[in-house]
Amino acid sequence: IRDLARTFNDMSAKLQRAIEEVHDAKADADAANAAKSMFLANVSHELRTPLNAIIGYSEMLQDELSDGQQLDQDQFHHDLGTIIFSGRQLLSLINDILDLSKMETGKMTVSLETVDPAALIYQICDALSPLITQKNNTLTLSIADDLPEMESDPAKLQQIVTNLFSNACKFTEDGVIEVIARIEKNSLLIAVKDNGIGIAEAQQANVFEAFEQAESSTGSKYGGTGLGLAIVREFCRMLGGDITLESTPGKGSTFTATLPLDQESVRAAG
Ligand code: ADP
Repeated sequence: IRDLARTFNDMSAKLQRAIEEVHDAKADADAANAAKSMFLANVSHELRTPLNAIIGYSEMLQDELSDGQQLDQDQFHHDLGTIIFSGRQLLSLINDILDLSKMETGKMTVSLETVDPAALIYQICDALSPLITQKNNTLTLSIADDLPEMESDPAKLQQIVTNLFSNACKFTEDGVIEVIARIEKNSLLIAVKDNGIGIAEAQQANVFEAFEQAESSTGSKYGGTGLGLAIVREFCRMLGGDITLESTPGKGSTFTATLPLDQESVRAAG
């Protein structure tokens, strides 16, 4: 009887553990579903905002042209700039969604070329400069002048820097965004540092998961899809490196990507 009781106790403990695991799995699935629903709502918003700007500004220019008005050159450039910028935003959102789908189906590949990382970083920061002024931020570039050429995937490098840069601008107001690039231990280190809202410690690991945003309220206040950092981390890993985050709520965040210069490790990772 004592043996039977012990067996019964063991079985009951195992059953209890199995029930807890099912509960945990259900909680995980519920959380994933909630994150996906939030994602769909956010995507619709993110598509609509630049599309409205493109249609609105284009219609306005068309009206002015058909009225035979003398167009103010500066205003014309500004309006065209907004249309181009909004178009790029749409393209980048659509690229993020396509990238995620390629990542999920294992179809994302690495395409190696010789890259001049300093030139690439300067070019990206220049193209994204409208984001800096949007919230009255300033940009500091700390790019070492001895960065060597490296073999890498320029499109992936570009997206890593672009996503980190856009996030820094989005979550910082009246602040400073610093882009740092230097060589450390045979790797290219790229850090994007801001003194914006920061991320609570409990959320710091989650932000690299697809669809995740630091707080559900962050999504509605700042928009976004929760895809950017998942793509950044995947791309860093595909290039043989990784990404880390240091952040203090209310003080700011620093995302640091470390990408090996050594071609063999890049090839092995790809
Ligand atoms: P998105 O910005 O489109 O929501 P991301 O994957 O790029 O998606 O970022 C996920 C979340 O991480 C953001 O929603 C935000 O909560 C947080 N986050 C990312 N970058 C920063 C940053 N520089 N400062 C504060 N929070 C950030």
